[in-house]
Amino acid sequence: MAKVSIDRLKKQFGPSVAVSDFSLDIADGELVAFLGPSGCGKTTTLRMIAGFIEPTEGSIYIGGDDVTHVPVHKRNTGMVFQRYALFPHMTVAENVAFGLQMRKIPAAERDKRIGVALDMVRMTQFRDRYPRQLSGGQQQRVAIARALAIQPKVFLLDEPLSNLDAKLRLDVREEIRSLQRDLGLTTIFVTHDQEEALAISDRMAIMYDGKVQQVGPPNFLYEKPANLFVADFLGKMNFFDGRMTEASRFNTDNGIALTVDGAISSTNKVGVRPERVSLSTEAVGHNALPGIVESAVYLGPVINVRVRLDGGDVIGCQLPNTAESASRPVMAGARIHACFSPEDCVVFSE
Ligand code: ATP
Repeated sequence: MAKVSIDRLKKQFGPSVAVSDFSLDIADGELVAFLGPSGCGKTTTLRMIAGFIEPTEGSIYIGGDDVTHVPVHKRNTGMVFQRYALFPHMTVAENVAFGLQMRKIPAAERDKRIGVALDMVRMTQFRDRYPRQLSGGQQQRVAIARALAIQPKVFLLDEPLSNLDAKLRLDVREEIRSLQRDLGLTTIFVTHDQEEALAISDRMAIMYDGKVQQVGPPNFLYEKPANLFVADFLGKMNFFDGRMTEASRFNTDNGIALTVDGAISSTNKVGVRPERVSLSTEAVGHNALPGIVESAVYLGPVINVRVRLDGGDVIGCQLPNTAESASRPVMAGARIHACFSPEDCVVFSE
């Protein structure tokens, strides 16, 4: 496996810029997810790394070698697509053999690699079937085996789970992660599904409008989002507009004084995650905001509550379903305090 370095990559299609100023170093054996909404440039970036798209500007290094202008088949990247892209007229084994034949791997070595790859994805017993005789999950396993059989330096996956149903998505996701770890594969995994990215990656690169917004381990990006886009895209967040009037003091436009963790700054927004807000009949702690319960929606493991604060803001709270909360359910119309600590406030300056 090899490390990947992407240096100020840009892709322009006619007048429109699909990706700009994309720089990222991916360590040997690391799994990085590219996460972002539709059209943000994830696939274009992945395809530039694979060699299917020529960058407008910038460079790509695999294992220290500049591959920016090296053709696809000489980059040694293994790619898995959303729609499997298996050859319908070839059996499972023939599909896996294809890349090896193209690389002129001798027959004995080829057969060995086909066996190992099919074994890895538990598809050995299906080696003589055609793609139409396989389920979606099985076809995607064959596509993974085909990509791994060539022993790629980098493993690239473009929304590989999108065509699978919910249960299968989880199974195949876990299989990909465990194979990736066992083989030490340097991997880039493109997805627009935040839970998928959080669950599978060592680090995530959050993209929006062709640009990387923030890169880091899942928990770091969730706890310390760099900007409003990341905060809102990754999970849910309540926002308050206002300004800092002194250190640790943020006055909202609707007249609420919040205690936050931080020095005085030009920040004009403060956010708090719904699951960090608790409800209490008493005013507890620094930020205990009085209001009236607007709605409480029971979702099994959690209860989502909306509270209209005195002053007009609405705050969302996600409460765990505990024995205590089950015995005293939150009722619409009740007067309550929405409470959260200064450390749970994220301050933004944009
Ligand atoms: P999705 O999750 O929907 O696949 P994405 O984040 O992978 O989205 P890209 O496919 O990389 O997004 O597209 C980024 C932008 O570049 C989009 O605005 C898209 O319309 C544009 N684009 C992609 N390929 C081309 C092309 N061949 N010609 C012109 N514009 C393109």
